[in-house]
Amino acid sequence: MAMSQAEMVQKARVRALSDGLQVYRIADGVYVVPAKSNPGEAYTVTVQADGQPACTCPGAVNRGVCKHQEVVRFRYLIDSTSIA
Ligand SMILES: [Zn+2]
Repeated sequence: MAMSQAEMVQKARVRALSDGLQVYRIADGVYVVPAKSNPGEAYTVTVQADGQPACTCPGAVNRGVCKHQEVVRFRYLIDSTSIA
């Protein structure tokens, strides 16, 4: 049975954390995540106006889900939260 979108997102979140992905903020809402399996390569994740991250990796382009988007979701939440 095919995984649902929610299951794919869940799996991507676990991968994002277990892989210890690095995330670099290069502009407001724009992040670069080095490719774990492809040294020297990196993907750009842009947070859209609706708050959804969009990654340039093949997984995100083909399935709409990837671990880079999920790690950026966490990071963007932290970056956009002001702690006084
Ligand atoms: Zn990706």
